[in-house]
Amino acid sequence: MRRLASIQTVTLTEPIPNADAIERVKILGWWVVCKKGEYRLGDRVVYCEIDSLLPERPEFEFLRASSFKAAVMDGDVTIQRAGFRIKTVKLREQVSQGICFPLSMLSPGAPIEIGSDVTSDLDIIKYEPPIPVGMGGRIKGTFPAFLSKTDEIRIQVLEPILERYRGQTFQMTEKLDGSSMTAFLRDGEFGICSRNQWLDEADETNVMVRVAKTLDLPGKLARIQNRFGFQPAIQGEVIGPGIQKNKYGLDRVDLRVFNIFDIGQYRLIDRSVYLQALVAVELMGVPELGPIVLDHTIDQLVELSIGVSTLQSKTQREGIVFRPDVEQFDQDVGGRLSFKVINPQFLLKYDE
Ligand code: AMP
Ligand code: MN
Repeated sequence: MRRLASIQTVTLTEPIPNADAIERVKILGWWVVCKKGEYRLGDRVVYCEIDSLLPERPEFEFLRASSFKAAVMDGDVTIQRAGFRIKTVKLREQVSQGICFPLSMLSPGAPIEIGSDVTSDLDIIKYEPPIPVGMGGRIKGTFPAFLSKTDEIRIQVLEPILERYRGQTFQMTEKLDGSSMTAFLRDGEFGICSRNQWLDEADETNVMVRVAKTLDLPGKLARIQNRFGFQPAIQGEVIGPGIQKNKYGLDRVDLRVFNIFDIGQYRLIDRSVYLQALVAVELMGVPELGPIVLDHTIDQLVELSIGVSTLQSKTQREGIVFRPDVEQFDQDVGGRLSFKVINPQFLLKYDE
């Protein structure tokens, strides 16, 4: 499970203009608004990232008015328990992401070394928004082990990356806010997966099954296999009506690809072949924002992420994804080098 709560240190504290009672403190690459004087430079704290769902415990009750989320039920089955959801907020014009608590919040014996994961000690889970209509449908099983799941790490939790790859060129694409889909062709078998599940490719109540049919993904995957000589999976974001409030105002559902995967080698293919393959089978990739030489602080990257979508100029984009031209493994990422920078204006606008 993702590390949502961990032990961290306060690396900066700064006043907020026109605010006497509060100040901002820096934890990892995040700015968090706290009561003035509550934490000092070098203090160790329990830091909970955005998307944390805190349990209903007396210590967290002060969050009820602003952050309570009721349990999500399916009949008698609890899909997600109730709790307090941590999200991006703005206080006195200052964006605040995450929340800090003193170490006394932990149970006796919990680890307190910097970086320790205390997510389960505090019974914190990841808040998942409700599953949108058309995303259900029959499931074949869990996500297949012969593919890698799609995910992007937030730069705020991986500041060392900026130093390690300073001077290196990265390609930027617009991060689209839809739903992650994978389609694969393996030993002649065609399959479709959502972010975490292997779907029944015959159940057209699911929007991903319909989009695969409309775009003829089985045919396109076969063409990629013939032309490039590997068993392919494509991974992309499904966007459009019924998905994440259709932020781009599309009139039909569409797929924008961000990965092509070589199943035999269990590896993502490099960008040059990815681009060629997309052209060859007439699929659209995620919007390209061009190259950039990495020479930025986290705050500068966050500033850069602010802007409107290339798909809809009235909509703030969700953010930017950064990747090298040639696939690279990074130990701290724990996988391929690639990271996301989320636009804070987007998070504030869409209440995330
Ligand atoms: P998140 O949606 O915050 O969980 O971030 C990771 C997800 O972003 C990936 O799993 C993809 O589904 C999605 N995504 C949207 N646009 C892109 C893009 N341009 N590059 C990579 N992933 C993307
Ligand atoms: Mn997403």
